[in-house]
Amino acid sequence: MLFDWLIVGAGYSACVMAERLATQLGHRVLIVEQRDHIGGNAYDYYNEHGILVHKYGPHIFHTKSKKVWDYLSHFQIKKYPTVHSQQSTVNNFKRLFLFLGVPIANSM
Ligand SMILES: Cc1cc2nc3c(=O)[nH]c(=O)nc-3n(C[C@H](O)[C@H](O)[C@H](O)COP(=O)(O)OP(=O)(O)OC[C@H]3O[C@@H](n4cnc5c(N)ncnc54)[C@H](O)[C@@H]3O)c2cc1C
Repeated sequence: MLFDWLIVGAGYSACVMAERLATQLGHRVLIVEQRDHIGGNAYDYYNEHGILVHKYGPHIFHTKSKKVWDYLSHFQIKKYPTVHSQQSTVNNFKRLFLFLGVPIANSM
């Protein structure tokens, strides 16, 4: 048998499962993804101007769990200072602007 697991989709749920199965249990995992990148809807990339683009909409990561932070610290995670609010779509744009370093007027 070539693989122990077949995982369909390479969003972060699948990637975490694959990483755990491979590193903790030594299992062989095959991931198939229909898109041309991993990360699912949380995927981002730097465009030709050096701007970080959230392809499927602005994302922010937040957790109070030290265990989660400790896990993530094994990977190259870049942290950005940000203000967090989930009150409205306007706040989602605020978050995006903060990520992009765009000054935000108080009226937003
Ligand atoms: C606009 C927007 C903003 C969000 N903001 C936040 C946020 O700020 N913070 C936060 O924590 N969460 C946010 N989320 C939610 C977050 O995106 C999801 O919780 C997270 O992406 C789910 O991860 P996942 O791996 O389960 O699935 P997904 O990210 O959906 O990944 C699934 C992957 O499976 C692939 N796939 C599906 N079917 C097949 C198939 N048949 N064959 C091959 N590949 C397949 C898809 O192409 C995709 O890449 C936001 C979501 C959206 C849409």
